[in-house]
Amino acid sequence: MAYRYIDNYREQGARKKLVEELKKKGIEDENVLNAIGKVPRHYFFDETFWNQAYKDIAFPIGAGQTISQPYTVAYQSQLLHIQKGDKVLEIGTGSGYQCCILLELGAKVYTIERQEKLYYHTSVILPEKMGYRARFILGDGSKGNAKYAPYDKIIVTAGAPTVPEELLKQLKIGGILVIPVGDQESQKMVTVLKVGEHDYEKTVLDTFRFVPLVGDKAW
Ligand code: SAH
Repeated sequence: MAYRYIDNYREQGARKKLVEELKKKGIEDENVLNAIGKVPRHYFFDETFWNQAYKDIAFPIGAGQTISQPYTVAYQSQLLHIQKGDKVLEIGTGSGYQCCILLELGAKVYTIERQEKLYYHTSVILPEKMGYRARFILGDGSKGNAKYAPYDKIIVTAGAPTVPEELLKQLKIGGILVIPVGDQESQKMVTVLKVGEHDYEKTVLDTFRFVPLVGDKAW
């Protein structure tokens, strides 16, 4: 694998076009569009595949996992309504791309990944090669991460069979959970707003296809 961390005009231009494409597809949040415009997505690709980095598609990143489609990343990010300084738990670090978008939005990010290889890669590459600093955690995020709870926002980037109870517990009142819920073929995007200690408002949105959330409180 040959990764290089150089942001040339060609990639910057391709990134601007991606932002325009996402606008056309209905992403309206200016902060999210700006964040997509800032994070060099080609850093997550072997140089051989840089020409794929700004297409609005998911892409294999090794360890049998994928970097999410930019539209999906933008869609979930938009639903989180990130305010500067928000404490955010991301479940499913994967490539680390979504994590970088959250950081660009001004969040303090705690990101958890169950696959060692991906965890070791992102926890070194993001801070040292890309300048993105988050708290990287290795483990099963299907039960959230009690150690740093409560969170303002929680984002799950793998498909869950149900909404794990623990995630709701680890949200602050006024906090938002964004999680794809369904079977292993397709999921509906679900947002849960925590309005009181035991009071939640749930909204079911569009259909997506994520890799399965594997763990104690999942598949
Ligand atoms: N956010 C990622 C998308 C990753 S794909 C990105 O921006 O690229 C989903 C990831 O969730 C995979 O890396 C998978 O290993 C991880 N995953 C699945 N179940 C998990 C669990 N219970 N805890 C933590 N990570 C999990």
